[in-house]
Amino acid sequence: MTKRKHYDLIAIGAGSGGLSVAERAALHGCKCAVIESARLGGTCVNVGCVPKKIMYFGGHIAHTLEDARDYGFALELKGFDWSKLKQSRDGYVQNINNWYVNYLQDSNIDHIQGFARFISSNTLEVNGEHYSADNIVIAPGSKADVPAIEGAQFGITSDGFFELDEQPQRVAITGSGYIAVELACMLNALGTEVTLLLRKQHLLRPFDVMLRESLTEEMLNQGINIITSSAIKKIHKQDSGQLTLQGDNGQTLSGFDQLIWAIGRSPMTEGLQLDKAGVETDAQGHIKTDLYQNTNVDGIYAVGDVTGRAQLTPVAIAAARRLADRLFDHKRERRLDYDWIPSVVFSHPPIATIGLTEGEAREKHGNSVKTYQTRFTPMYHAFTQNGSKVSMKLITVGAQEKIVGCHLIGMGVDEMMQGFAVAIRMGANKKDFDDTVAIHPTSSEELVTLR
Ligand SMILES: Cc1cc2nc3c(=O)[nH]c(=O)nc-3n(C[C@H](O)[C@H](O)[C@H](O)COP(=O)(O)OP(=O)(O)OC[C@H]3O[C@@H](n4cnc5c(N)ncnc54)[C@H](O)[C@@H]3O)c2cc1C
Repeated sequence: MTKRKHYDLIAIGAGSGGLSVAERAALHGCKCAVIESARLGGTCVNVGCVPKKIMYFGGHIAHTLEDARDYGFALELKGFDWSKLKQSRDGYVQNINNWYVNYLQDSNIDHIQGFARFISSNTLEVNGEHYSADNIVIAPGSKADVPAIEGAQFGITSDGFFELDEQPQRVAITGSGYIAVELACMLNALGTEVTLLLRKQHLLRPFDVMLRESLTEEMLNQGINIITSSAIKKIHKQDSGQLTLQGDNGQTLSGFDQLIWAIGRSPMTEGLQLDKAGVETDAQGHIKTDLYQNTNVDGIYAVGDVTGRAQLTPVAIAAARRLADRLFDHKRERRLDYDWIPSVVFSHPPIATIGLTEGEAREKHGNSVKTYQTRFTPMYHAFTQNGSKVSMKLITVGAQEKIVGCHLIGMGVDEMMQGFAVAIRMGANKKDFDDTVAIHPTSSEELVTLR
């Protein structure tokens, strides 16, 4: 008979959500295990936030080198070594992977390497072994979508992007979400010729219109080719290895050495055998959870991307930690509030956002919405060729002008938003911003001096 090992808690997936729930539960004295089929750290560490941000810094340095000339530096640029950056980046990620191995050991959390499937509501099977738990947290994340069209296999996803040993010279990126625009801006900054293909009219559709329009303008100014209303129907790979894309509007685009699919992500529930546990999913395959991360089955919870809500690392971590506090630290009402989640798009320039867009605010609050907006050239760019602008918008509601949305784009806003997010989540009004003494000379002071 197969031996069975029993735990207080098992997390399926050792990414942002799974590691966090196990870590917090272990702190509360529970016997925990994480099951991981790939590398420790999940998407964020291995093929998401971390390597992406390093590439973003690479792009940022490329822009800074351009600006340096305008600041009087006579530079002779001898090229950019993609493989050097990749090697350093991979080494950094490997260090994080290794750190997790030691951390799990130190924390007395068992690391089970392999793919988990349910065989009942409290038992999982991994590599023929059975593991049961009083509490099972499903945190397998999501994976990039690839369309079912002829030649789709010639394209890569963001996972494949991080494997590229050589810098692509001419890239087509399809998608309008944050991953598509981040890859487009960074590759363009590093010297790749980029074409971004949008199925509809706009990039970053759920974002405030000011952000969308400003970023589109900046990307066009940087020389990124944006083609709207264009869905790819077929991809042909030539003998030379170059790709030709055929659009559904009859347009043909050729000469690409890479095509990147960034058209969305789907929950990683395939193969989990959720039916054996009776766990329900929605029409998109996301695991249905209530506000407390409970699934429809007692003792089974889900956190992170697989739930389809705000697919960001800090969201998975926060939901996971609160779940462990609720289950094992007698905090019965502890749960993540999914409102007021700040986020950043690491485009060039970056975007930072929290709360309602102007459109959402007007739909919800009608005429009681008042907005404050500014657009200016930051001092850093006062005399650079680049001339990239900063745009800011505050959305307020009612006589007290409670701030319900804040949207920023421009140099430095990625590091600006976190502090403002605290104030906004605490219920700040416009007057609270006005009464705060500015820090001069900065771009952020404009947010507390808006008229
Ligand atoms: C290119 C890219 C850039 C991103 N940038 C950012 C960013 O800048 N900021 C941000 O906040 N978020 C970013 N994200 C999103 C972020 O990575 C995810 O929201 C986060 O990783 C979700 O955490 P998770 O725990 O739900 O899943 P994951 O971190 O994906 O972890 C899930 C783990 O489960 C494993 N697994 C799956 N199924 C099984 C199974 N049956 N058995 C065992 N193991 C299994 C997987 O191998 C994986 O390691 C980015 C994502 C991508 C793709």
